[in-house]
Amino acid sequence: MSEVVDHLAEMTGFRDRDVMDVTLVSALRDLLEPLSVAIYRCVAVGDSATEQRWLTRARLNADDAVATADPLWSDPAGLPLLQDYPQRLDCMHSRAVVQGETAAVGEIAAQFISLFPIATDREVVGVLEVISAERMSPKAQRMVSSVLRIYHNFQGLLDYSERDTLTGLLNRKTFEDSFLKAVSELPARAILADTDDGRRHESSSPRYFLGVIDIDHFKQVNDRFGHLIGDEVLLLLSRLMRSSFRFHDLLYRFGGEEFVVLMRCEDELDAAHAFERLRLNTEQYAFPQIGRITVSIGFTQVRIEDSPASAFERADKAVYHAKDSGRNQVHSHAELVSAGKMSEQAQLSAMELF
Ligand code: GH3
Ligand code: MG
Ligand code: MG
Repeated sequence: MSEVVDHLAEMTGFRDRDVMDVTLVSALRDLLEPLSVAIYRCVAVGDSATEQRWLTRARLNADDAVATADPLWSDPAGLPLLQDYPQRLDCMHSRAVVQGETAAVGEIAAQFISLFPIATDREVVGVLEVISAERMSPKAQRMVSSVLRIYHNFQGLLDYSERDTLTGLLNRKTFEDSFLKAVSELPARAILADTDDGRRHESSSPRYFLGVIDIDHFKQVNDRFGHLIGDEVLLLLSRLMRSSFRFHDLLYRFGGEEFVVLMRCEDELDAAHAFERLRLNTEQYAFPQIGRITVSIGFTQVRIEDSPASAFERADKAVYHAKDSGRNQVHSHAELVSAGKMSEQAQLSAMELF
């Protein structure tokens, strides 16, 4: 009993979700001594977001010294497909424990698999999988379920402090930390290399882009249809954002009808495509009772010397340009500068914005 409590204390001692997942699997490995224990999360990939794959959040085999996980930025095409693991899917759909067994083949003994759903308050997001040499006892099952309830409650608390209650997107408060983390990953000086496909990119060094999205004429929506319908539009737009960007892009509601995306991608062209996809998906979406809504989007590449405010300001200036030029457009700050339509950043204003 006290062993379980010790593990719980350790698991809830972190506010970092990656570390929490690793402490959860290592706690369960110590307590159950299985062949392996892992957390798999279901992620949408591809432009349509209809294709879903398994991302390994943390996995420990019996003799592993440290847990393994898929990097958040891993190429989604290399992740296993959802339908290749029907038992995990059963577990997610039924929201209940699923038990299975593999047949013994020659010298390889049968293995027992126990799957537990992992859910947030909004949806089931993945499974915990325990593979063992013997069937898991009802007592052990209850223990795992209880540990998972504590994990769930703690994740809920993290969500409450980090997420916007209306849309479930990240809130502005958490933006600065993720921004600074992204900047700290940027190389001090970009080493550019030509690749086979003719695009230039920094080999293995990440690039981040920050986009600001503002709904066009949103005040009219509120004035004509009321705030409740206005809020519904914000919720639907947040869903369009989730389906237009990749699972690892960070999506924020900055307050009001202003949204921010911090994305990691190869180059400016990829970023432009992603923002254009959101613009188009929004334009084509039939918002109930209202009909057509459009958004104006500005974006910029994050630089090593940037503060959150300076990068935000560049993207925001590009939004203003989109508004001035007729709305329902995506503009890159760098492109506006090189086309002579905008001057390079005025020195300013960390204090005013943040
Ligand atoms: P523009 O195309 O220039 O962006 O026009 P706009 O009317 O969208 O102007 P602006 O971006 O300044 O609009 C802000 C409006 O958004 C004011 C307010 O009516 C509405 N708004 C801000 N926050 C909320 C919210 O939380 N819920 C609802 N329903 N409306 C909000
Ligand atoms: Mg606005
Ligand atoms: Mg607006």
